[in-house]
Amino acid sequence: MTATLSVANTEKIQSVFSAQQKNQYRIGNTSAKERIRKLQKLSGTVVKYKAEIRKAMWEDFRKPAAEVDLTEIYVVTSEVKHTNANLRRWMSPQKVGTPLSLLGSSSWIQYEPKGVCLIIAPWNYPLNLTFGPLVSALAAGNTVMIKPSEHTPYSSAIMKKIINEVFEENEVAFFEGGVETATALLSLPFNHIFFTGAPEIGKIVMRAASKHLASVTLELGGKSPTIVDETANVALAATRIAWGKFSNNGQICIAPDHIFVHESKKEQFLNEVGKRLKIFYGEDASQSENYMRIVNNHHFKRVKSYLDNSVSGGAKVAIGGKSKAEENFMEPTVVTEVPLESDLMKNEIFGPVLPVIGYHNVQEVVDQINAGEIPLALYIYSSKKKNVNYILKNTRAGGTCINNNDVHFFNNNLPFGGSNNSGIGKSRGWYGFDAFSNARGVYKQNMPGALDLLMPPYNNFKQKIIDLTLKWV
Ligand code: NAD
Repeated sequence: MTATLSVANTEKIQSVFSAQQKNQYRIGNTSAKERIRKLQKLSGTVVKYKAEIRKAMWEDFRKPAAEVDLTEIYVVTSEVKHTNANLRRWMSPQKVGTPLSLLGSSSWIQYEPKGVCLIIAPWNYPLNLTFGPLVSALAAGNTVMIKPSEHTPYSSAIMKKIINEVFEENEVAFFEGGVETATALLSLPFNHIFFTGAPEIGKIVMRAASKHLASVTLELGGKSPTIVDETANVALAATRIAWGKFSNNGQICIAPDHIFVHESKKEQFLNEVGKRLKIFYGEDASQSENYMRIVNNHHFKRVKSYLDNSVSGGAKVAIGGKSKAEENFMEPTVVTEVPLESDLMKNEIFGPVLPVIGYHNVQEVVDQINAGEIPLALYIYSSKKKNVNYILKNTRAGGTCINNNDVHFFNNNLPFGGSNNSGIGKSRGWYGFDAFSNARGVYKQNMPGALDLLMPPYNNFKQKIIDLTLKWV
């Protein structure tokens, strides 16, 4: 049975939605200066509560303070800085050219807010993935209703405090809760829905949006493959992959999901990853303050069952493998000889298990990647331009790093998002502003135009002009 929200909570959601609908033109008519001030206030309040945010994320899943600062707070403050530096330009009308046939007119694009928007967020980067899109939504002049994930309740509590301190609820409102809250929100006729989460839930969101033909941005997940070829700097690749895979306990939508390593470099790669993991997390990762936990027992069991299933199918544990269910702890784990049909290779892992697969010919790897869903990210470690170009041109992916992983997310000049199963639409910087805006095309007639001469009744003279237009204009 699907849980439904209490009448009181449903009424509250509906009344806030109506209040935001009424308020949307006032908010939409704010100047760049007012929006910049608003975003600065949001950023300043986030920084003011840094200690509480760190504490909340430690409670939720033992996120180290340094990672809270870098991957949560900094992402929001840098998004605000980037947006504020560019907002006047993004908001100003953009003139476009006039074809000869429309002589006597001028045209421009006016970016206007979509209106009342919904943001539904996941738990793996609670602040980053809730307030990041919020910055873009506010920059574009929208009102916003937010539903964070129910799985990181401490982080949600501090985010709620920040929102309530900075905004009136007829501009930004925050609704904690699970599926029932999301379902109640999704029944409303939002003008745009920005969802971050799993592809299966993305389909539910898109179905709900279709009822009102609301536009969507879907930031989804999937398996992000990584290729380390025979020319790669293996020590560097191993270091960056170990960091990008095991920070946040592998619970990163763009973590390297599995690694294809050229067979000639496989042993060296495994040794280097092992060395690096000891440097990062010591001999016993369960004692390390730098090593996070899986968010809850449900996800712990999911990741553990993937590992067990692949081992019983013939996979070998090369590094780690131990776990403590009562702490949702799993060692940083690397597996080899993983059967392609095992759960580890069929599902997004989203946890601290890294399959490493040896290969001889890059074409086999490209074919295998192309046989799956389009990944959110694809990483290439190589020092040979020809190999890099070949992989770039013969695969598809939301984003790619060459000789690194995960970090393309931090460049707000790049669009971030997937394709098909990994998502629809893009976020961050200009792309986030664009996602939350309607590009309104405006045409202005300044003096009589040629079309005025071509209205009915038609005659030979008018037909001649039409013929000339078809031929020359
Ligand atoms: P999830 O899809 O389970 O949950 C995301 C949000 O959807 C939560 O707020 C949740 O309450 C809500 N939700 C869950 N079931 C719902 C339903 N039936 N109807 C309506 N709403 C529902 O995802 P998660 O477990 O929080 O996050 C993990 C997934 O998110 C992974 O697949 C990961 O790759 C993806 N992800 C993608 C990005 C990205 O930027 N592309 C970033 C982070 C995570």
